[in-house]
Amino acid sequence: MSLTPGKIYKLLLDHFGNQNWWPVDKDYHKRNDSDPRFEIIVGAILTQNTAWGNVEKALKNLKANNSLTVKKVVETKNLKTMIQPSGFFNQKAKRLKILTSHLHKNYEDNLDKFFNKDLQEIRSELLSINGIGPETADSILLYAGNHPIFVVDAYTKRICKRLPVKINEESYDEIQQYFKRELHKCFPKKDTTQLYKESHALIVELAKNYCKKKPECKKCPLKNQCEFNLS
Ligand code: SF4
Repeated sequence: MSLTPGKIYKLLLDHFGNQNWWPVDKDYHKRNDSDPRFEIIVGAILTQNTAWGNVEKALKNLKANNSLTVKKVVETKNLKTMIQPSGFFNQKAKRLKILTSHLHKNYEDNLDKFFNKDLQEIRSELLSINGIGPETADSILLYAGNHPIFVVDAYTKRICKRLPVKINEESYDEIQQYFKRELHKCFPKKDTTQLYKESHALIVELAKNYCKKKPECKKCPLKNQCEFNLS
């Protein structure tokens, strides 16, 4: 029997437990009366092409300078310096400025107004912003906006290449539709948003710990079902 997204989810949940993503500093936002969803939006852009540890350093700088709000990012002249640890800081600063100006101009910095819109409408809006591709847009929509949309990243694509699935492993849309369909089949009663949040986080854990560029199948929790390992 081949591994399906539903089986992968169950096995990974047993192995790693709930991941409760996205990691945000709730205490900081309580103390500063700021919106934790904005930390997710910024994190989703800063994490492009870099390790999460570097993003954390950049977020720490933004917090230390009291600059983790839409208004502050729009106004600050020091954005590049603060986000420097995340790499590609010229490009990322430009992307953050464009997105925050959009939120400022069209939604008066109010994330409720933005996220309360129809999912496909805001997705198209995000994708029309320079530097925001499907992975970044869907991460923002799922983890900050609480919208039911499955995130596909390089790790998901790598795992799909090793599973016996009949899809184009390079196609974002095909992979996304496949996971959505299969997860629904297996868990029709589960909260879809929560299921997508956990499922993506667990796939990231699998790829970081076992299904690396050079897979470590012997220790992997999927080893007894994975055809790549068994073949
Ligand atoms: S058994 Fe190997 S190939 Fe299969 S998911 Fe695990 S690490 Fe990846």
